[in-house]
Amino acid sequence: MELGRLGSRLIVDLSLFKDNIKLLKDRFPHQEVIFMVKADAYGHGILEMVEFSLEECGIKEFGVASLSEALALRRSLPEKEFELYVFSDQGLSLQENHELYHQKRIFPVITKWSDLKIFCENPSLKSGPLCLKFNTGMNRLGLDFEEVDEVISYLKSKGIKDIHHLMSHFANASLSMKKNNRNLWQRDRFKKLKEEFKNAGFNIMNSSIGNSGALEQGIGGEETHIRPGLMLYGPSSMAPKNKNQTFWKGKIISRLETTILSLRPIKKGDPIGYGSVPCPSSGVLAIIAIGYGDGIGTKFSGAHLTHRGVQGQIVGRVCMDMTFVLFPEGTDLKEEENFIIWGSDPEFFRNLSQETSTIPYELVIALTTRVPRIYQIN
Ligand SMILES: *Cc1c(COP(=O)(O)O)cnc(C)c1O
Repeated sequence: MELGRLGSRLIVDLSLFKDNIKLLKDRFPHQEVIFMVKADAYGHGILEMVEFSLEECGIKEFGVASLSEALALRRSLPEKEFELYVFSDQGLSLQENHELYHQKRIFPVITKWSDLKIFCENPSLKSGPLCLKFNTGMNRLGLDFEEVDEVISYLKSKGIKDIHHLMSHFANASLSMKKNNRNLWQRDRFKKLKEEFKNAGFNIMNSSIGNSGALEQGIGGEETHIRPGLMLYGPSSMAPKNKNQTFWKGKIISRLETTILSLRPIKKGDPIGYGSVPCPSSGVLAIIAIGYGDGIGTKFSGAHLTHRGVQGQIVGRVCMDMTFVLFPEGTDLKEEENFIIWGSDPEFFRNLSQETSTIPYELVIALTTRVPRIYQIN
């Protein structure tokens, strides 16, 4: 589809997303998916991603970070039925939020004692499902594994026997799930946790631990649910040195496009842009219409981009609205033509994130609102 001149844009290919879902479901046929859509669906647009997941992919559960993300989603899709979990910034210390969880059917994932007490003592919260997340070794959020006995006694004293969803989270899922000791330790502790609750007479209705890195290595299928984020947007979350340990063959669902504004022949040593950075070799300089104001930060300097099969390199300092890409002399380039920063190739995306010293999670999220998200279905 020719989009004309819209400035830089992120094309989100929903057909590729659907393919990624299918790939995941083939590997985890018996698990329900809690699709992680925090941070505006990792920069892809939460509303569109949730709507498409609900209507076209059979996903009915979603996870966000904060109550405000959850409320915004409920406000945008008032008629739709889906479950919504808030994982980190629940705001339970504020009285006025309690009713909102109840009214809007949003599930706070309890990760600390103070919130557990608030939950159990507040009738409207307590009437909803209890979701507990334990710290099995990441030391971020979570009730401590060592305190499971206290949690059990406390819940019993409050007459609670049903845990709607028991969770934990891996700290090192980008490393081997089968060899890394911390991963083995966390897996073992989560298993013990479930046993302790069961032995104490609790009914654990649902459980989950798998994030992308774990799922990519086939781990997480012992639970009722899986919690993928990154992988469904395409990138692998495996560390580069472990990239062969994943079964994941997802496609990058986003394509970042901009325009070549101008071309300029250039000689080695000629000054480029702010700071008059000397050009590293002779060639043709493409000035493209994207910069740090769009989320292509100064760290992109030095990274390689490919245009119609020819490799170029970002040179000079990235500007707010423009970037310089140096191509070999004689490269076939046209002013005003489309320029693709990244497309569906996961290998290219991985390299770009390495060259820009970012992790794959950051590249799309970093794009600002200056870059419209455009949805495409093939
Ligand atoms: C973000 C998040 C996930 C998803 O992680 P990915 O690595 O993107 O798959 C899963 N669980 C929790 C609690 C999260 O915060």
